[in-house]
Amino acid sequence: MGKCEADKCNAKCCRYTALVIDTPRSRKDFDDIRWFVCHEDVSVYKDQEDNWVLEFVSLCKNLKNNRCMIYDKRPDICRDYNPDKCTADSKDQDAKILFKEPSDVEKFTAARWDAKKKKKTTAAKKKKK
Ligand code: SF4
Ligand code: SF4
Repeated sequence: MGKCEADKCNAKCCRYTALVIDTPRSRKDFDDIRWFVCHEDVSVYKDQEDNWVLEFVSLCKNLKNNRCMIYDKRPDICRDYNPDKCTADSKDQDAKILFKEPSDVEKFTAARWDAKKKKKTTAAKKKKK
């Protein structure tokens, strides 16, 4: 097990909650993500395993002075968290795609759909020739 120094990292793993969401595919899906990140302290990212994650920065009520007050009764998800794989300090750098602001989503969707549109137009032009 890795060395966990909660005072050094400020127990970051106890300061957020997160959910894996369906892989966004359509413009509507990305517009929903844009709505999520319109809210304070909410982000959406694609992790190294290609999971899309909706994350809320929110302090666990059981954390006091960087210590778990219900350690013996902590939820399974806390028990299963592997400090060796802790990315709390580098999540932003580790994410394949990260949306923190609505403008991040707007830029991403513009690039994705503009690129698709361009591809189609070029293919149509080539066909005509
Ligand atoms: S798992 Fe990571 S964030 Fe949590 S206390 Fe250990 S080093 Fe800090
Ligand atoms: S229950 Fe304890 S270990 Fe789990 S997130 Fe809260 S403070 Fe951290």
